[in-house]
Amino acid sequence: MVKVMVTGATGLLGRAVVAELEAQADFEVLACGYRRAVQGIHRLDLTHSSQVTAFIETHQPDVVIHCAAERRPDVSEQNPAAALALNADATRSLTLAASQSGAWLLYISTDYVFDGTSPPYHEHSETNPVNFYGDSKRQGEMIVTEAKQGFAILRLPILYGAVETLPESAVMILLKQLLDKNEQLVDDWAVRSPTSTADIACAIAKMIHLQITGECLSGHYHFSASGTMSKYQMLLAMGDLFGLSTEHLKPVTCPTDSAKRPHDCSLSCERLASLSIQSNVMFNSGIEKALQQSPAVMALLKK
Ligand code: NAP
Repeated sequence: MVKVMVTGATGLLGRAVVAELEAQADFEVLACGYRRAVQGIHRLDLTHSSQVTAFIETHQPDVVIHCAAERRPDVSEQNPAAALALNADATRSLTLAASQSGAWLLYISTDYVFDGTSPPYHEHSETNPVNFYGDSKRQGEMIVTEAKQGFAILRLPILYGAVETLPESAVMILLKQLLDKNEQLVDDWAVRSPTSTADIACAIAKMIHLQITGECLSGHYHFSASGTMSKYQMLLAMGDLFGLSTEHLKPVTCPTDSAKRPHDCSLSCERLASLSIQSNVMFNSGIEKALQQSPAVMALLKK
């Protein structure tokens, strides 16, 4: 049995990773959350390095999948110290503890480490984040790289998946604008690649299998669904899928968010493709499944 510690196990991606690993007989999962940690999930404040060290010393995981982060650009901009404490400092504590115990660490990162001016971005492309969130995640990446322990970094684009509440996913929250029939301004400027958390979880499980069978995955990897869409295009697709009118939606072709966003961070995923790890989920089927697995959202759609 491979013992896998998953941080951020109560979050959007972490829940999908835990579900995928628990469905496979090879893994024993140590799911870690913080404020939402309930029965079966270890409550661990990653910003307390002594807690991190003690947890890893006690449980001795073989693998650490580090999903926990402050992932909201606007919140990160408003409270940079808190974003750094989780995205960089907690990553340092985990990296150190994993190095000392001999665990392999996979740090989940973001396409927002790039500036979005010259896509597609390769694994070796130069980073140049345009907002504090991207900068804090880049700092986390540098900590993992500088540890020189053969750890890996997985960069991801915008995520969707089964949610407890709409704001949990920057894609699912768009449904609010679909359901509110007053005129809605929607971003048609930023080019995104919405990617299913279940699809990513499958890829992560394959990466762990390769690592423990001797492949030695280290450095930067990218994973992304193949299509690109603006938020406006995502809403048109969802409207079509659920038979909802989209006439009240007005596309906006210039940046709309308060924290600066990159224009197009499309990721080229050659390194994982060379290991036969590729995205298998298209937006329409992925979003339909994610909604079916989100009872609170389905109830809203049926109203
Ligand atoms: P999320 O849903 O916001 O979840 C954040 C997780 O971090 C939660 O499990 C939360 O636990 C945990 N956490 C917060 N403070 C903590 C603390 N002090 N100690 C321990 N855990 C703490 O995030 P996500 O969307 O799943 O993102 C997962 C990863 O993907 C992140 O690294 C993010 O940068 C990256 N990413 C996300 C997106 C996206 O669109 N969401 C896009 C690209 C990359 P509690 O809730 O229990 O407190």
